Amino acid sequence: MISVEHLTKYYGDFLAVDDLSFEIDEGHVYGFLGPNGAGKSTTMNIMTGCLSATEGHVRIDGHDIFDEPDKAKRLIGYLPEIPPLYVSETPEEYLRFVGEAKGLKGSVLREQIDKVIADTRIGDVRKRRISALSKGYRQRVGIAQALLGNPKVIILDEPTIGLDPIQIIEIRDLIRDLGRSHTVIFSSHILSEVQTICDRILIIAKGKLVVFDEPQNLERRLLTPDEINLKAEASETEIRRILSGVGHISEMNVKEEAGGGCSGAYPYGLRGYL
Ligand code: ADP
Ligand code: MG
Repeated sequence: MISVEHLTKYYGDFLAVDDLSFEIDEGHVYGFLGPNGAGKSTTMNIMTGCLSATEGHVRIDGHDIFDEPDKAKRLIGYLPEIPPLYVSETPEEYLRFVGEAKGLKGSVLREQIDKVIADTRIGDVRKRRISALSKGYRQRVGIAQALLGNPKVIILDEPTIGLDPIQIIEIRDLIRDLGRSHTVIFSSHILSEVQTICDRILIIAKGKLVVFDEPQNLERRLLTPDEINLKAEASETEIRRILSGVGHISEMNVKEEAGGGCSGAYPYGLRGYL
């Protein structure tokens, strides 16, 4: 469905996305997990054709996002990190504007607007000004515009950020519902969120893909970090000093041996990335 090959993005001489490759299959909910600055938004902006890549390719159903943008973009609905809402309009007016921009007209446009309003449950505010809506409702309007035109893939950049706990639960439920009829990709920096909603997780750190797995496997990897056993002819202080400079070690157990030197187990896991 989506193929990302060797995607690389430099902002000036800063490397934000570093040789990212992965495949998105139809019919799953994918979570992009990573801390702030990991490169999630940059990757999503490139995948949706909103930003150019320095190197690499993105193909949507075989259509290159840069060479055949019209065909490729028709297959994607995108909610960017900052949704481009026109706050002086009502959801209905805004959706008509976006629908027309997507090439919908007449009765098809009207039916589509009614459908996305029902799907995102914003019927009771459809005639209110967007400026008067809560952040949770605004986010739904943003998701509604992504759904117009019934694209196969819905890409949502941090859809729950800045929402209160009840709104977060509602948006998560909505994402689950969307996953029944669309391929959904959404980003988050909250591990539990992607674990409960997604059936595939991609962890991105410093622009690199570090994990692509199913949630149950990820849990196993998080709960049982790999362990390295070492023996060294050195004091505990010296071992701790040297290993403190090595990334992703979550714990050190050092034991002095009878004949001098130390041995120990050094678990390291994914925690260092999150
Ligand atoms: P995320 O969405 O995971 O928080 P971003 O893709 O927004 O990460 O950013 C990745 C890195 O690229 C960050 O270090 C960010 O500061 C940098 N960055 C993002 N946009 C720009 C830009 N327009 N110019 C320069 N650096 C940028
Ligand atoms: Mg972001």
